[in-house]
Amino acid sequence: MKPVLPVINKRKGMVTPMAKMNVIFDRCKGCELCTTACPKQIVAIQHEKRNKEGVFTAYCTDDDACIGCAMCAMMCPDCAIVIES
Ligand code: SF4
Ligand code: SF4
Repeated sequence: MKPVLPVINKRKGMVTPMAKMNVIFDRCKGCELCTTACPKQIVAIQHEKRNKEGVFTAYCTDDDACIGCAMCAMMCPDCAIVIES
């Protein structure tokens, strides 16, 4: 069985430039694994708002720089990242 990547492409069913990384706010546990996985170094932990678990969550610091590689999503142990394109 092929692995299922958490990538949504409404046009072609594949990863393309101009993707957008989204964190499912209440699923993130703030472990920071995704911040080390991003080749563009654009994933960080925000310190403005805690989720329902009291956690500061990950976010993309530069949507325009995201290449949709899904490395962050594959690294997340809680499947808290979705890549849209
Ligand atoms: S999809 Fe790739 S480039 Fe975009 S935030 Fe995730 S790891 Fe970084
Ligand atoms: S790897 Fe997942 S759970 Fe950990 S900080 Fe990133 S989005 Fe949150």
